[in-house]
Amino acid sequence: MSTIADNIALVSSRIRAATLAAHRDEHSVQLLAVSKTKPAEALREAYAAGLRDFGENYLQEALGKQLELADLPLIWHFIGPIQSNKTRAIAEHFAWVHSVDRLKIAQRLSEQRPADLPALNICIQVNVSGEASKSGCTPADLPALAKAISELPRITLRGLMAIPEPTEDRAAQDAAFAAVRDLIKSTQASLNLPLDTLSMGMSHDLESAIAMGATWVRIGTALFGARDYSQP
Ligand SMILES: *Cc1c(COP(=O)(O)O)cnc(C)c1O
Repeated sequence: MSTIADNIALVSSRIRAATLAAHRDEHSVQLLAVSKTKPAEALREAYAAGLRDFGENYLQEALGKQLELADLPLIWHFIGPIQSNKTRAIAEHFAWVHSVDRLKIAQRLSEQRPADLPALNICIQVNVSGEASKSGCTPADLPALAKAISELPRITLRGLMAIPEPTEDRAAQDAAFAAVRDLIKSTQASLNLPLDTLSMGMSHDLESAIAMGATWVRIGTALFGARDYSQP
């Protein structure tokens, strides 16, 4: 059986190969370990093998692991759907939120970000797969949303996040990620803002995402193995 350290080495070499193939700097792509459903010991193992950034989708689960791992200097990213009643805890306990898709959530995160913490890093989740995905703002709504979010005081708009419809067809993957890249370029140009983050690419499509400009790839299965949702 492969260990988490083995898996990290494999994923890191996939990332390196993809950045080189795209003529990009090896360090321009960061690995976000998606640890939802995985026990704290798995994150500890990943930390020991060099990882620092962890992405979680479910607030209560994440808060439990943060307590168990409070002795480690981990950087926490919230990447799941956000209900309004969860914003305070998210604003207090995370450094990044990748999954903001409406203004009300961003306003609450800004208001509730504790004064003693640096501004919260935000990505706007965009839906480039139309009907196939429920989460994410539409490309049409993005310009106004990005402008409003960029003006909030306690959050820093860093860029965009997307989860295109899963497909094994490389051309379709490339087209979806290229659409996100084009959206960040147009948003950047219209707002005159230095957006530096494209959060896109998961275990099965990180090569395509990196070819199209990803700066964070969010990897779960390829690091920690398949998820088992049947356990309570
Ligand atoms: C679960 C999840 C991932 C990781 O997906 P894998 O296919 O397991 O790599 C990435 N991003 C988000 C938003 C997720 O919910």
